[in-house]
Amino acid sequence: MDDTVTDGEARRRVERFLAAQPIPAPGDDDGRLAFLRARFDAGLAWLHHPVGLGGLAAARELQPVVDGLFAAAGAPDNTPRRIGIGLGMAAPTILRHGTADQRERFLRPLWTGEQLWCQLFSEPGAGSDLAAVATRAVRDGDGWLVTGQKVWTSMAHRARWGILLARTDPDVPKHRGLTYFVCDMHAPGVEVRPLRQLTGEAEFNEVFLTGVRLGDELRLGEVGQGWAVARTTLMNERVAIGGAPVPREGGLVGLLADTWRKRPELRTPALHDELLKLWVRAEAARLTGVRLRQQLAAGEPGPEGSAVKLAFAGLAQQLSSLEVELLGEAGLRHDSWEFSRPEVVDFTGRGATYRYLRARGNSIEGGTSEILRNIVAERVLGLPAEPRTDLDATWKDLPR
Ligand SMILES: Cc1cc2nc3c(=O)[nH]c(=O)nc-3n(C[C@H](O)[C@H](O)[C@H](O)COP(=O)(O)OP(=O)(O)OC[C@H]3O[C@@H](n4cnc5c(N)ncnc54)[C@H](O)[C@@H]3O)c2cc1C
Repeated sequence: MDDTVTDGEARRRVERFLAAQPIPAPGDDDGRLAFLRARFDAGLAWLHHPVGLGGLAAARELQPVVDGLFAAAGAPDNTPRRIGIGLGMAAPTILRHGTADQRERFLRPLWTGEQLWCQLFSEPGAGSDLAAVATRAVRDGDGWLVTGQKVWTSMAHRARWGILLARTDPDVPKHRGLTYFVCDMHAPGVEVRPLRQLTGEAEFNEVFLTGVRLGDELRLGEVGQGWAVARTTLMNERVAIGGAPVPREGGLVGLLADTWRKRPELRTPALHDELLKLWVRAEAARLTGVRLRQQLAAGEPGPEGSAVKLAFAGLAQQLSSLEVELLGEAGLRHDSWEFSRPEVVDFTGRGATYRYLRARGNSIEGGTSEILRNIVAERVLGLPAEPRTDLDATWKDLPR
């Protein structure tokens, strides 16, 4: 870490940058992109990244300071919610496991949002048991041919690239025969089909991969080491989903508190008790997220990220249920059943019923709550692990 980049130095750099780089007018897409590219090149995108890769090798704590200065100046941002898989999962994985060429090639357009990413991990027979994936990648000259089916692939319909876990060796135990790739979503043989959700929209997809040719330069990490690479993604995924910074009384609890203040006629003593309990839990979860991000400044996310994601999912479901209950009949009126292909998961911009329905997925996506409880039990609390019989068996001999 570069200790010379203090809070004061970071502020001065932003001031100098803003003095030299005019803020584009709203709607000026070219100007917006030029601004974001320049910000990346000035090392003011991901402050903790190395110089040349969007950062200044500075402390992560400086990130909110810099983001705040850009926001206060009315500068465009890279709308992280739109590209959460890229920013939250692909980027840290590429930074840690990618070659110099891969970092150079992917990180800048990822950060600016020019290229969106999706995650091609889950399969019909491999969700919680992710190491069981059956999608095959077979050597083909200087590249690979990939064939298989992925499922629940959020935003695949918008993505330029996908992070892909595939089996390269079926003759070894399941965790050892995997390799991690970057999948070109425009390559021949990639077919994306929508899956309609409980909310009515199709935010995720099935992705069929039929003889998709990927050059070896799209392999991330060593052949057979895909599980170690995927663990970096998964650890970051939990932090990205559960540990995103929110202001006090922000997010779902904020919406609920707002309704409570504005609509006294809806209040009952029982709902009041429930709201207060959830408000306190939301604040505790928020502060735990702050602590987690401070720990992150010192290194990689640990299993504590699983606890934060677990808490986030439970709270989102309870808060959205309480909102529907508070609103009574109006709370049951869904704002739209129209089949749509969204660009964002817009929790706060939609109605109460949307939030209630979409929150069901929070305890499934990014690792189910049952699995996260196992992780917390084993790796945080040190309790005995579940008995496993499949760790040393050859993957091709496992029942499927
Ligand atoms: C909204 C949403 C978006 C998603 N986006 C993506 C995406 O972009 N990319 C992607 O790759 N995947 C995505 N997923 C998939 C998600 O990661 C998987 O659904 C999840 O890992 C669970 O896998 P599964 O559905 O196969 O369930 P299963 O693994 O079949 O589990 C079924 C049930 O059994 C429980 N269970 C399984 N094993 C155990 C155990 N050992 N102990 C206790 N309970 C257990 C589970 O917790 C669950 O309740 C998304 C899912 C949702 C809901």
